Amino acid sequence: MPAGSPHAESIARVAVPVPVRRLFDYLCDPAALPARGARVVVPFGRHTLIGIVLEIAATSSHPTARLKRVARVLDDEAVLGEPLTALLEWSARYYHYPVGEVLHAALPAAARRGAPLAPSTPAVYRVTERVERCAAAELKRAPVQYEVLRLVVGRGGVARLADIAGEVGGARRAVAALVSKGWLRREEGGPPAAPAAAASGPGPVLSQDQQRARQQIIDALGHFQVLVLHGVTGSGKTEVYLHVVKAALQRGGQALVLVPEIALTPQLVARFRQRVGVSIAVMHSGLSDRERHDAWWAARGGAAAVVLGTRSAVFAPMPRLGVIIIDEEHDASYKQQEGFRYHARDIAIMRARRAEVPVILGSATPSLETLVHADSGRYRLLELPSRAGRAALPRVTLLDLRRLPAPDGLSPVLLDAVERCLGRGEQCLIFINRRGFAPVVMCAGCGWQAQCRRCDARLTLHKRSARLRCHHCGADLPAPKQCPGCGSDALYRVGTGTQRVEEALAKRFPKARLVRVDRDTTSGRGQLEAQLNDIAEGSADILIGTQMLSKGHDFPGLTLVGIVNVDQGLYSLDFRAPERLFQQLVQVAGRAGRGQRAGHVLVQTLHPENPYFEPIVRHDYRGLAALALQERRQAHYPPFSHLALLRADSSRAEEALAFLREARSCGRRVLDGRPGVAVMDPVPSPMERRAGRYRAQLLVVAQRRQALHPFLDEWLDELDARPGSRRLRWSLDVDPLEMY
Ligand code: ADP
Ligand code: ZN
Ligand code: ZN
Repeated sequence: MPAGSPHAESIARVAVPVPVRRLFDYLCDPAALPARGARVVVPFGRHTLIGIVLEIAATSSHPTARLKRVARVLDDEAVLGEPLTALLEWSARYYHYPVGEVLHAALPAAARRGAPLAPSTPAVYRVTERVERCAAAELKRAPVQYEVLRLVVGRGGVARLADIAGEVGGARRAVAALVSKGWLRREEGGPPAAPAAAASGPGPVLSQDQQRARQQIIDALGHFQVLVLHGVTGSGKTEVYLHVVKAALQRGGQALVLVPEIALTPQLVARFRQRVGVSIAVMHSGLSDRERHDAWWAARGGAAAVVLGTRSAVFAPMPRLGVIIIDEEHDASYKQQEGFRYHARDIAIMRARRAEVPVILGSATPSLETLVHADSGRYRLLELPSRAGRAALPRVTLLDLRRLPAPDGLSPVLLDAVERCLGRGEQCLIFINRRGFAPVVMCAGCGWQAQCRRCDARLTLHKRSARLRCHHCGADLPAPKQCPGCGSDALYRVGTGTQRVEEALAKRFPKARLVRVDRDTTSGRGQLEAQLNDIAEGSADILIGTQMLSKGHDFPGLTLVGIVNVDQGLYSLDFRAPERLFQQLVQVAGRAGRGQRAGHVLVQTLHPENPYFEPIVRHDYRGLAALALQERRQAHYPPFSHLALLRADSSRAEEALAFLREARSCGRRVLDGRPGVAVMDPVPSPMERRAGRYRAQLLVVAQRRQALHPFLDEWLDELDARPGSRRLRWSLDVDPLEMY
């Protein structure tokens, strides 16, 4: 065909990392077509960008003469592998987010910049499960292969080619032969930074409930199933995970284990390393580029049999995925709250379905969404109703703050309990979900209050540093000694934060060792870890902390938990607030009495008559969930409907609301009477002004998910095309967790 004829060209449809929800067409040579999933360098405006090819087409809807050409093809194959590429495409569609940005974020930093696709460490060869069954006799006539195998086994079952070749002549051919027989496996990426410790012992003997759960999960290996492991705090869920991971590894699979942001502690990593006895890649947001690169390669090449990570690890490349475990599946940190607002649990379920592997959703307080599916039979429910070993669930007592004085937030009943606990030489935890000293500073003379200038919020006093801080925008200014309004020095500090509780307890119990854990004490790298270690080793008597202390941690010496005030969460505008509050209560309470001695939980409240407390006192989470579900059903909230929230914010008052009003009209026009989806009226956000921007939101409610997504597609296309839509910031949140 003559050059220049339109048929001499093919079209590569490329996902480019720009905030636009579509692919871009480029010309490419049909004789050298890039593979789907390969990175390409493409001109984009006045720059060049690195994109990923998603489709090859014969024609474009744009005039061919106007199309630019792919400048360079960087990979021979899908850089993320086909299954992960497809999963990311699906996720971008589901959350209506630009696929180019989604794919880009899933790459390690060096790969995003176009570095060649290569691990930082050379490949290794590992003996496979089959070797144990192969008799040495089979290798009698292949002495070199026999030597190679002996050498690799002698090195713990894994070795680099260079090391093998250094000791055995003719090793390269022998290694290739062993790989083709399936006795050695090539793994890219080498052993990850921290090698496996030898597996130490089998762990405790499983209880009958644990054994049953373990067996049912193991029976599900090899096909897709969602299993809900509902076990009270300390019931031994992690023990079950460890057994399941081992079983998956024995079948040659990899295991993906996700935990909430604040539960991924060195304690947990060490427990997995010790017990599973294979190399583990740890992935979380605090890794350096280099560490992330190594972990990513270890997962992709198979050198890491287990990936243990937080939210974003759901996108770890794992070619031999055998099982996915989501611990504390109800935890809000699985939902990304900005940009690409995905829910890692929901993506994990889709990933498991595509890979045909089971996924386990573990929690002491499963989300209502999950419980509904368990009850309908879509998910399989496994229960661990009692604590492991000899530990019993703690006793829960409500303290009525209407009848008890509570200076500095602490009632005399709670203080007495602390005193007795210290007298017995045990640890206690005072939980208060607010950092700083006092959330309100006001003047007795004129009524002035310390307000943030950029937010509709009050400033919190941080007493030790004598600062007033805004917990919403980070504003930070010196605390005044006199009222800026009238000059009076009668400034009152109202309400209680962690610092105030700490100060009061230090005064009352001068000999006790206090440790406060909140965002102010853990800002440095490794600070939280150091504090948790101290606590676990018993070098603290009283812990004071926010939600950072509420989950995942196992403090065997802790017998008393005091909850200073739960009431802020009871009357929030967010329909999920009660559920979240009570999940948190159950989790904090679950820290008590995990060792030999029984625990006690004291909950201070102004509203002891709230119906949610009764099931909490009885440790009846199902009862609690039933109450919440009833309210949700009446209000047509999830899981009885599906939501999407359109948020907008602008530096000018009214602009966001005006945009959303237009969006509403546009949405209703697009709907055109179609049933099953409703576009509500826009409203200002509960805290309208934040960091100087005015915020508003608009809710879309759908009875059926199938009706929602096509509508959102059309609607967003129209909104994108509106002339004014670039002047302000707006975003869509599918399945929003927070309603502000
Ligand atoms: P969860 O993940 O449900 O909070 P864990 O698996 O961490 O529970 O177990 C809580 C504690 O009980 C741990 O110290 C663990 O070692 C111990 N444990 C778990 N299962 C058993 C068992 N079958 N027998 C004795 N102790 C156990
Ligand atoms: Zn004043
Ligand atoms: Zn502020």
